[in-house]
Amino acid sequence: MTTEPLRVWVDQDLCTGDGLCVQYAPEVFEFDIDGLAYVKGTDGELLTSPGSQVDVPENLRLEIIDAAKECPGDCIHVQRAADGVAVAGPDAD
Ligand code: SF4
Repeated sequence: MTTEPLRVWVDQDLCTGDGLCVQYAPEVFEFDIDGLAYVKGTDGELLTSPGSQVDVPENLRLEIIDAAKECPGDCIHVQRAADGVAVAGPDAD
């Protein structure tokens, strides 16, 4: 498992709104009033622009990666902060 800094974003076009990610990491994922999941900044503000990315908190790496692997919409993208290489989610190996 890499220990490099990671970033995460959600493709709302594919989100089913089931809430699995919110259960895994409510510090990072939250529903907006449209019933879809979005990522939050460290200040807790929901980032509703398409493709908005946030840093994955060090203590939540496993939760975020697990959420990406199990996301029913296959729409949580986790990537290395340094070069954008996919670590988990639909673009990962
Ligand atoms: S787990 Fe995936 S499909 Fe489910 S609410 Fe989160 S982003 Fe949407």
